[in-house]
This record gives sequence, structure tokens and C-alpha cells, in this order.
Amino acid sequence: MTLPPDKEVSFKDSVNLSFDLARATLEIPDGMAQYIRNVNNVYQVRFPVKVKGQIETFIGWRAVHSDHKLPAKGGIRFAPQVNQNEVEALAALMSYKCALVDVPFGGSKGGLLIDPSKYDRETMEKITRRFAFELIQKNYIGPGTNVPAPDMGTGQREMAWMASTYNSYRPGDINHLACVTGKPVSMGGIQGRVEATGRGVVFGLREFFRTPEDVKSAGLEGTLQGKKVIIQGLGNVGYHTSKILQEEDGAKIIAVLEYNGGWWDPNGVNVEEIYRYKVANKGLEGYPGPGKFVQDSTLLLEEECDILIPAAMEGVIHRGNASRIKAKIIAEAANGPVTFAAEAILQEKGVVSIPDVYLNAGGVTVSYFEWIKNLSHIRFGRIQKRYDEGKYEQLILAIESSTGHAIPQALKEQICKGSEEIDLVRSGLDDTMREAWKAIRERFWTNDEIKSYRIAAMSIAIEKIHNSYRTMGVYP
Ligand code: GLU
Repeated sequence: MTLPPDKEVSFKDSVNLSFDLARATLEIPDGMAQYIRNVNNVYQVRFPVKVKGQIETFIGWRAVHSDHKLPAKGGIRFAPQVNQNEVEALAALMSYKCALVDVPFGGSKGGLLIDPSKYDRETMEKITRRFAFELIQKNYIGPGTNVPAPDMGTGQREMAWMASTYNSYRPGDINHLACVTGKPVSMGGIQGRVEATGRGVVFGLREFFRTPEDVKSAGLEGTLQGKKVIIQGLGNVGYHTSKILQEEDGAKIIAVLEYNGGWWDPNGVNVEEIYRYKVANKGLEGYPGPGKFVQDSTLLLEEECDILIPAAMEGVIHRGNASRIKAKIIAEAANGPVTFAAEAILQEKGVVSIPDVYLNAGGVTVSYFEWIKNLSHIRFGRIQKRYDEGKYEQLILAIESSTGHAIPQALKEQICKGSEEIDLVRSGLDDTMREAWKAIRERFWTNDEIKSYRIAAMSIAIEKIHNSYRTMGVYP
């Protein structure tokens, strides 16, 4: 077993050190543990694209960490600082995440080294299609092998280009739409995928707050209502998480952090308004308030609050700032926001981390629903919605005629409404997050060797992956 290092290690080593702690609590043969821990294969590609008359060379990666279940699944990130170590770490997290929440996929991740803000839409399409082509050629994209999804710097638009590229190189593949997830709904996407990671974070937090024992372990009490929340990163995940927390749970968002400045208002910012301002102005500077602009947004990570939600990059909480974090809970909406070294410091201080492998699994969970939708070629709810409505209407009639009382119209409509796709997606996501947390907390509270929810979550994931390999017959 490896002890917490006294220095910072790479993102991949951070993930692997957590693996080692979790693995030490399990009975797994050494060779098998080493196999599960390491990335199975990684493809690095360079390709040229003509941009404004000049040839530019791009470099990208797609790593498959595990393929005990196929397809391997995980996002593709477009970012100016992505590298192979990062992609491999993210692929490993995908394996553990999928196993933990019972999404039957292996783990994969991709990255393209690019600053998307430097290129116009047309050029981005050319580059994305070319990258997709390179991946398709080597079987790193396909409905049954490897299924990318959005991540940092990519969204529905890029997924649509990738799906369309796949279709043109594999004509006649009836399941071609299942080759990527996170597509626009008009192109085989699913309702609720865009909000999924953020909504999953909220479902996870709600489940945490349902158990007083867990809440107490973080030095808190009560529900999410009125809790002071700091959000780092107002991208897709941070926006949906904070908006839902504010509008549906009554949490108070006291600070919002972007890389180029943050906003602080102890009375709570209006998430929708500040988000719109950020999109229109590419930052928070000049927002009319109330509250104040803070140029060095990293300082806001250290403000007093109940829940700190890092929702952007890895490594934002590290040895350098961990001792100054005042939050009671760190809710990891991003992948790898807390380094292994920082985790040891936070634990010492009694700060509770709700780990990324669990808390941000909503994205891939709804991707799984989208993939099923694409393979079954039918929208969820289409067959049974009206049938259910008819049954509920009959039930209401029966109740009214046997009791002699009319049920109020508004309630009747609520009961009779058949499920739309979005209702089913949210219900499936809610169930997934609840069940996974029950398993994590059960392991945490019943195993003295396990000192954090992260190690509890990782040990469940590793155990499941190990069982898959064993039943597959990798060794007797
Ligand atoms: N990129 C997301 C993640 O890190 C989603 C992956 C997916 O939907 O496959 O979990």
C-alpha cells in the first residue's frame, strides 16, 4: 500500500494511488490488480488540416483503460493543455465510474490538443471530422467498440459532426447513431443529456442529505435548503448544478468562479442572470451585481461555505491550498479536482469529499440511456405513455364513483399524465444516483479500513471490474 506522498504527483498517479488504497481492502491477486489499474491501450494520432491556406498539424489521443464490458465509454476533450497522462487518468476514472453506477461499459477517454476559441465554426468542423475519421479507422469509434461523448470544449455540435462522419464511413450500419452520445435530440440524442451531469450532482447531494449520519460526518445538519454553496466553473456542469440547487433545493450560491475572475455575494447570486452575463461577456468582470468581482478567483475557493463544488478542471484543490479550504463538503462535479496529496490534508481537517467517480456519473448514465435509445430505435415512453394515461383515468373514475367525491382537476391531470422521455431519464438517473450512494455509504460505514467515501467508491468499482474479468474466464 502506498502512503500519501509529501509532494504533488501527476493526475494519473493521483488516481492510481487512490486505486492502491482501495485495492488494499480487497482480495484480488496482484497480477489481476495490476492489470485492472493500468490503461489497456492508447492511440496517439497526428493529422494535418488546411487552415486559412496553411497546413496545421494536430495531435490527439484516445485511451481505453478497460474493456471488460464493451463498448468502452467516455468523453472527448478539446483543450489547449490536454496530454496523454491526463487522458489516461480520465479513462481510468471512466472505468471506475461506470462500474460503480452499473453502467455496462468499459472506460475510455479522448483528447485533442487545440484551443477551440482560435478557430471559426467551419474550421472546427473540418478538424473534428478529420479527428473522428482517424479514430474510426482504428476502431476507436463505433457503437459496439468505443463510444465518445462531450467533455471539456466539446458538446452536441461536435458529437453531431462525429456521428455524421461515422455514418459516411460506415454506410448501412443501422446502429450508426449509437457511435457517440450527447448528440442533439434532432439527431438521435436524448432529452436531459445536456443537464445530466449537473442534475446527477444534485441527485447525489440530495441522497447524501437524506441520511443524517452522513450529513453529521461533514459537521452539518438539515437539508440543502439555505446551504451556502461555492461553484468553481460555470460551464455546462457548473451551470446546471448551481441552477438546480438554487431553484429546486433553495441552496444559496454565494460565489461563482471562472478562470478569469469570480463573483462573490454572501446573499446569493442569481445563477441564470450571471450565467447569461458570462456567456455574453466571456467572463464575470463588469457584472452589475449585487456583490463584487474578485480578479483572483482561486481565493474564493478558500471562502467559508457549506459545500464547495469544483465543476471544471482537475487539480484545483492541491497541497498549496488544501489547508485553507473552509468548506465542510467538497462535491466533486469535475473529474479529479482534488489531488491525492490534498485529499490527505482535507481528511485531516475533517472535510468530506463526495468523490468524482460517483458524483459526476450522471453524464455517462444518461449517455447509457441515449445509447439504448439509439440501439432500440425508439424514444422512451412512446409505446406506453397513452396507455398509462388511459389506465390512470380509469382508476380515477373508479375512485370517484366508489367514494362519491370528485378529485380536483389539477391533481387529476398530474396523476393522469403519462411519462415523457425527460421524466423517464430523470427517474432513471435519480435511481442510479440513490442506489450507488447507498452502496458507497454502506461500505464506508461498515469497513474500518476504509477512511473516505472515495476509497469506498473505488473499492466497489474495482471489485465489480474484477468480478467481470473473473466470470469472463481471464483466470480460473
Ligand atoms: N465526459 C463525461 C464524463 O466525464 C461523460 C462521458 C460519457 O457520457 O460517456 O463522465
